[in-house]
Amino acid sequence: MREIGHFVAGRTVPGTSGRTGDVFKPATGEIQAKVALASPSEIDEIVANAAEAQAGWAATNPQKRARVLMEFCRLAYAEIDELAALLASEHGKTVPDAKGDLQRGLEVIEFAIGAPHLLKGEFTEGAGPGIDMYSMRQPLGVVAGITPFNFPAMIPMWMFGPAIACGNAFILKPSERDPSVPMRLAELMIEAGLPEGILNVVNGDKEAVETLLAHPGIAAISFVGSTPIARHVYQTAAAHGKRVQALGGAKNHLIVMPDADMDQAVNALIGAGYGSGGERCMAVSVAVPVGEEAASALMERLVPRVESLKIGPSHDADADFGPLVTAAHRDRVRSYVDLGVEEGADLVVDGRGFQMQGYEDGFYIGGCLFDNVKPDMRIYREEIFGPVLSVVRAKDYEEALSLPNEHEFGNGVAIFTRDGDAARDFATRAQIGMVGINVPIPVPLAYHSFGGWKASLFGAHNQHGPDSFHFFTRAKTVTSRWPSGIKDTAEFVMPTMS
Ligand code: NAD
Repeated sequence: MREIGHFVAGRTVPGTSGRTGDVFKPATGEIQAKVALASPSEIDEIVANAAEAQAGWAATNPQKRARVLMEFCRLAYAEIDELAALLASEHGKTVPDAKGDLQRGLEVIEFAIGAPHLLKGEFTEGAGPGIDMYSMRQPLGVVAGITPFNFPAMIPMWMFGPAIACGNAFILKPSERDPSVPMRLAELMIEAGLPEGILNVVNGDKEAVETLLAHPGIAAISFVGSTPIARHVYQTAAAHGKRVQALGGAKNHLIVMPDADMDQAVNALIGAGYGSGGERCMAVSVAVPVGEEAASALMERLVPRVESLKIGPSHDADADFGPLVTAAHRDRVRSYVDLGVEEGADLVVDGRGFQMQGYEDGFYIGGCLFDNVKPDMRIYREEIFGPVLSVVRAKDYEEALSLPNEHEFGNGVAIFTRDGDAARDFATRAQIGMVGINVPIPVPLAYHSFGGWKASLFGAHNQHGPDSFHFFTRAKTVTSRWPSGIKDTAEFVMPTMS
């Protein structure tokens, strides 16, 4: 059995806690590796080592730091096929989708290569008589990132790219479900020239997370995961005096106005609702047709498309989506579908009984579609995180807008319409962090920042883009006045004691 340890001081080391977790192959249901779960003393050692390395890295000029990231991109792109296959084998998403996971992360590294520019401060000449004022952005020290299973390449890169470009040392605690790609990315950073100790990977579970949150040697915590854990991380790390950004779960709505291009809206719902088996924080899980006519036109097209979704093992290039990450998660999704039926929603496509021929032990579930879902149902209020789309019918635009606005989560939302006025009003009034107009998954590109509102984000900073350079640095402002110098008191006569 393959064992996955930790990545410390530039090399992989075995775990010493004696505790391990199972890493599955969701396509077949087998256990393919055992991952070490770190103890507090292992984390103490990693933090001490990172702290020692960090001062030298902070003193390395930003252009040299950026060059390491450039070389890392070259190495990672050269290996993207192998990385995508490894990622897909632990996560269950298809290989082309796994490539997208890597690509979107590498785009953040490309953005972070702009560090020399992004770290420039401001300068005011002559802020007062003989006074200049300037600002600097300096690294925080040792910082940590805790990431979810669903984007095992992209989300670690969202964090370690900007953090390291800013001159910090970074400790990554990836999801224990799919830790192999994060470990390989850390090796590639060392191959690219990163000094040992600047990027470390500590594998673990709740115990490792609690240790990081309370550790006095860690200045900031960046977290992405489910809302209950995000809230806990935010409160605990803040109580220990740390800077925190904690991104949580989602329930993303797609509103279909009566004037929308229905074929386009259906394509959007199929891709955004079922891609990656719905295991995306920006997946669309609620469709809101406005008016009965739009609802009928939408359902007429949507039902056959959900029925004909192609599910397959991750290496099947023709599959629309693969298995879910674990059997436990698949069972949880299935029980939400049972609950929807009990709550009285109409289950128009039932994927619960789906079996993948030849892969009977894999963690598969077919696409499910509910109609006539009501806002008080738990299947509407809670995040399911599977290939389950709920249709909530709204009588008019105002009712449609009120649904995402009154929902606990506020990650993403989209409207499909041909009416510029409705779209503009929607963008202004939506109480949601990321809005799509005829775009189903409005994930900002690397040079903008990513983040939701309400229970989808705790803290003041979004991920990547300009916010990340603020999150991973502290501002310092210098006000300087020099006393009258030699230029106006120059004495050419021999000084005497007269
Ligand atoms: P999760 O919250 O279970 O785990 C996230 C991280 O927290 C993991 O590293 C895990 O080891 C750790 N963790 C889990 N339970 C813990 C506990 N009790 N105490 C301390 N640490 C704990 O999330 P997940 O299942 O890995 O990922 C899916 C979730 O992440 C979904 O809710 C999804 O919406 C969310 N997500 C959000 C975003 C975003 O940008 N807002 C992006 C991706 C995923």
